[in-house]
Amino acid sequence: MDTGAGVAMSGRRIAIVGAGAAGLCMAIRLRDAGFSDVVVYERSDGVGGTWRANTYPGAACDIPSHLYSFSFALRPDWSRRFAGQAEILEYFEDLCDAYGLRPLLRTGTEVHSARFDDAEGTWTLTLGDGRTDTVDAVVFAVGQLNRPFVPDLAGLSDFEGDVFHSARWDHRVDLAGKRVGVVGNGASAIQFVPPVAEVASSLTVFQRSANWILPKPDRPYGRLRRRAFAAVPILARLHRSAIYWRFEANHLLLRRSSTLSERLGRLLSRRLRPLSDRGVAREAVVPDYPLGCKRVLLSNDYYQCLTRPDVRVELQHLTRVLPGGVETADGVLHPLDVLIFGTGFAATEFLAPMSVFGRGGRDLNEVWAGGASAHLGMTVHGFPNMFILYGPNTNLGHNSILFMIEAQTRYVAGAIARLRDDDLASLEVRADVADRFAAEIRRGLDRTVWGAGCESWYKNDQGVITNNWPSFTVSYWARLRSRRPWEFVARPRRVEVRT
Ligand code: NAP
Repeated sequence: MDTGAGVAMSGRRIAIVGAGAAGLCMAIRLRDAGFSDVVVYERSDGVGGTWRANTYPGAACDIPSHLYSFSFALRPDWSRRFAGQAEILEYFEDLCDAYGLRPLLRTGTEVHSARFDDAEGTWTLTLGDGRTDTVDAVVFAVGQLNRPFVPDLAGLSDFEGDVFHSARWDHRVDLAGKRVGVVGNGASAIQFVPPVAEVASSLTVFQRSANWILPKPDRPYGRLRRRAFAAVPILARLHRSAIYWRFEANHLLLRRSSTLSERLGRLLSRRLRPLSDRGVAREAVVPDYPLGCKRVLLSNDYYQCLTRPDVRVELQHLTRVLPGGVETADGVLHPLDVLIFGTGFAATEFLAPMSVFGRGGRDLNEVWAGGASAHLGMTVHGFPNMFILYGPNTNLGHNSILFMIEAQTRYVAGAIARLRDDDLASLEVRADVADRFAAEIRRGLDRTVWGAGCESWYKNDQGVITNNWPSFTVSYWARLRSRRPWEFVARPRRVEVRT
C-alpha cells in the first residue's frame, strides 16, 4: 500500500530519514530552497537523535554549546560551556518548533528499505508497517552512533541481575546500594561512572584499554554574560568563532607523529603519577597508544572517581557472564547486581539495518563490503538522488559535527534544487570522481594518528578507517562551497513526444 503521498507533480517530493540534528537541519534547508513536499521519517517517538536516545546520568556534550548549535539558530542563553543532554535536546525541540517542522515529521516510523527505480528516477521507501512512499530524492540522516553495540559474551542471557546499554538506559533500575559492573570506559562511560558510583555500593569498570582524558573547561555562564549575548548577538557570534578556531587548531594534535601531541601525552602521563599512590594502577590510566588515536575524552571527575574505595578498574578481560556476575580471564568471579554496557556503537555499519538498492538493483551492502565510502561522505556512484549526512569519513576527532552537517545540508539542498530547476530525472556522482576522492581520503588518513596502532570505532573490522574526515573542517567546508556540476552525471527527465 502506498502512503498516498506519491510523487508531487508540481515540485519534488523529498524524504529525510532521521530527525536528529542532521535531519532537522536538512528539512530547514529544503524548506528554504522552496521545497514544500518534504517528509521526515523517524524511528523513535521524537526528534533529537542521539540526544534523545542517550539519557544516562551525566550525559553531556564534549563540544562547547555555542559551537554545538547551528550558526543560523544561535542560542544566547546556554546555561554552561558544555551543555547537558536535556538542554541540548531542548535546543533541537525548540528548533523544530521555531521552523515549523512538526507537520513534516512521521515519528515512530522506521524505514526498512529503499529501492531506486531506474526508469522513473525515484526512490521507493518501504516502511516498518509495510507501507511504501515514492520520492524523488532521499536523504539519510541516521548518524553514525545509532545502533548500540553489545559484545557477544557467553552466558549473557543467563545473568539474573539487570542489564542494559548506556544508550538505552533503564531508568526503572534503582542503582542505589547495588554492585554495578560497567563494561567499557569510553566517552559515555566516563560520564556515567562518577554519578553511578555516588549511589552504588560498589562499581567495577571492566576495561580493555586506557583512554587519554583531558580536563573539561566547563563552567556555568553568568547571568550578565547570557544577557549580553541575547542583547548583542554579535558577541555570541564572536564567542562561537573563538571556540571554533580553538577547536579547529586541535586537528594539529591528530597528525601522525605530531611532536605537539607527543609532548602533551608525556605531560598528561606525568600528571597521572599521583593516582598510583591512591591505588589506581598505572596501566588503568596511561594509554599505550598515541594521543588522539582514539577519541580524546574530557572529564573533571573520572580520575577522582577511580580513587574511591568502592570503585575499581579491572584490567583482566571478561570471559563469560554467570547468573550472579561475571568471570574474568584470571578465573575470578565478580558478583554483580547490575551490568551496564558502555561499549559504544556499530559505527562502521552505515545505514544498517536498512537495505538500500540503487541503479540496476545494486545492493549498497555489497558496494560497501570492503568498508563504507562516499563522495564527500554524501553520495555514492550507482545510487542517484541519494544523499547521506554525517556519512562515511565525515566524523571528527577535534571539532563540532554540527559544523559539518550545516555544510553538508547546504550542499545537498543545492543538488536537489538542481534536480528541480534543470528538470532532471537523476543526478549521480561519476565513478572516476568518487574513486579519486576515496584515494584522496586514504592519502589524508595516512597522515593522521588514527592508523597508529590502536583499535577504535573509527575503523571497520578490516582496519579501514571509514568514519573520520582526515583534515581541518574548514577545508571540508571550502570543498563543499565550490560547486562542481561536472562531477555528476545529470539525466534529463523523459519527454513524451505525442504524434
Ligand atoms: P566507545 O568510545 O566506542 O567506547 C566503547 C568502550 O567499550 C571502549 O572502552 C571499548 O574498549 C569498550 N569495549 C568495546 N567492546 C568491548 C568488549 N568486547 N569487551 C570489553 N570492552 C569493550 O563508545 P562510547 O563511550 O559510547 O562513545 C562513542 C562515541 O560517542 C564517542 O567517541 C563520541 O564520539 C560519542 N559520544 C560523545 C559524547 C559527547 O560528550 N559529545 C558523549 C558520549 C559519546 P576499547 O577502547 O579497548 O575498544
